[in-house]
Amino acid sequence: MAKLAFKRVLLKVSGEVLMGSQPFGIDLATVERVAGEVAETLQTGVQLSLVIGGGNIFRGMAQAAKGMDRVSADHMGILATVMNALAMQGALQGKGIDARVLSAIAMPTVCETYSRAKAVHHLEAGRVVICAAGTGLPFFTTDTGAALRAAEMGCDALFKGTSVDGVYSADPKKDASAERFDRITFNEILARDLRIMDPAAIALARDNGIPVIVFSIRAPGAVLQVLNGSGKFTIVT
Ligand code: UDP
Repeated sequence: MAKLAFKRVLLKVSGEVLMGSQPFGIDLATVERVAGEVAETLQTGVQLSLVIGGGNIFRGMAQAAKGMDRVSADHMGILATVMNALAMQGALQGKGIDARVLSAIAMPTVCETYSRAKAVHHLEAGRVVICAAGTGLPFFTTDTGAALRAAEMGCDALFKGTSVDGVYSADPKKDASAERFDRITFNEILARDLRIMDPAAIALARDNGIPVIVFSIRAPGAVLQVLNGSGKFTIVT
């Protein structure tokens, strides 16, 4: 596939990826590896913003299903994304990269509070902006937060770095006959109810004309490969 010409990219990293081979939490070696990929990608001159999930630490819906109040559970999930963001900020800074966590929920003694103006200012100064706390609201996900921030910051694409190498017709871990797509439309994903991202995130990306590129960030060098058009991924348009 041809080289993808993007100037400003939002990279969403699912929390699950940061567990590495552990069953839970933050595997610092994996955070270091992903930070290394971010560093390599920056060398191409692309502006990068990150959104990191929290599923490696806490998922609101899963706890609500066990009887916890959903809003409190989601708030805990949101706080988990801030922990991941701080880990990534530290790893990037350790590589000499200026990175700033901007949180959707104000916590001024921990990090800056998100505003579009601040985020764009940092990006234009060559800094990596890590958008933490998702949308800042319960009943949402970090995928929706990623689509929202990508739209606000005028990103050319949303890279969804996850554990699978693209969009499939069914869960490839459960269904060996699942078909993999190189390309698919947002409307087809919604019509088939393919759960690669939640429908709110899909609709936001579609309505704002932001292509979503789904790839496995577990494979070393994956982000650069996607940018070069050489990796394995699905483009959603
Ligand atoms: N969350 C939320 N609102 C948001 C983003 C996240 O309530 O805008 C909560 C929600 O409970 C979610 C958890 O934070 O389950 C972790 O985020 P997510 O599941 O999106 O993480 P990922 O699957 O990407 O690791």
